[in-house]
Amino acid sequence: MALVQVIDKARGEGRTVLTEIESKELLKAAGIDVVDTRLAKSKEEAISISRKLGFPVVLKIASPDIVHKSDAGGVRLGLETASEVGKAYDQILPAVKRSFPEARIHGVAVQKMARPGVEVIIGMSQDAQFGPVLMFGLGGILVEVLKDVSFRIVPLSRRDAAEMLREIKGYPLLEGYRGQEAVDISCLEELLIKVSDFVEQNPEIMELDLNPIFAYSDGAVAVDARVILEAVK
Ligand code: ADP
Ligand code: MG
Repeated sequence: MALVQVIDKARGEGRTVLTEIESKELLKAAGIDVVDTRLAKSKEEAISISRKLGFPVVLKIASPDIVHKSDAGGVRLGLETASEVGKAYDQILPAVKRSFPEARIHGVAVQKMARPGVEVIIGMSQDAQFGPVLMFGLGGILVEVLKDVSFRIVPLSRRDAAEMLREIKGYPLLEGYRGQEAVDISCLEELLIKVSDFVEQNPEIMELDLNPIFAYSDGAVAVDARVILEAVK
């Protein structure tokens, strides 16, 4: 689906929040690497998609009303077999209904379990003065607790992208740390530029969250994504 179609569909349903699947679809079309993710509307479908993708897989609740899927009991990682997928499917829906009884549920998103990497995040928000601003940081507690992030105004230059990565205190972690592999820095710079281009070309996007992205020595892939649209006036 093209961007306009995804946006029209969401707006037709009175939503500004795109689901993970919709968000990843748009990002993929913009040339940004995302984990291949498909919607299952039944347990059988979840199992057959898992077989096509190859194990291990991840199941996540697909709902425009649930922003923090793990907190809602809506994420199951590392499912190795069809029977594990079946069990996880049966557990996710009631768990989510308990925490969010009113949530609209599209189904369950099935995706491949990405191999471990260095978790980074890229976000975009609108600043009243500067317009769209990109944020970069390392995932997990480094962002949540230590607020170790850098910002630049869109559009980003190559130099902005290079500086954004190097400005964070955690930069040495990207260069390899205690035997951990260094990540491909130029690939992350490229990714920042692509995200900058994407938000510049789509002014109806109010907020964007790639959280987390797994960075590797040979690439980077977003495993979770969320786009929020401007409300129609
Ligand atoms: P939330 O809505 O809670 O942010 P996420 O989709 O980010 O849900 O999933 C929670 C965590 O699970 C992520 O931070 C990441 O560590 C892990 N995770 C999610 N998807 C995958 C995946 N496809 N492969 C490997 N790990 C994943
Ligand atoms: Mg996330």
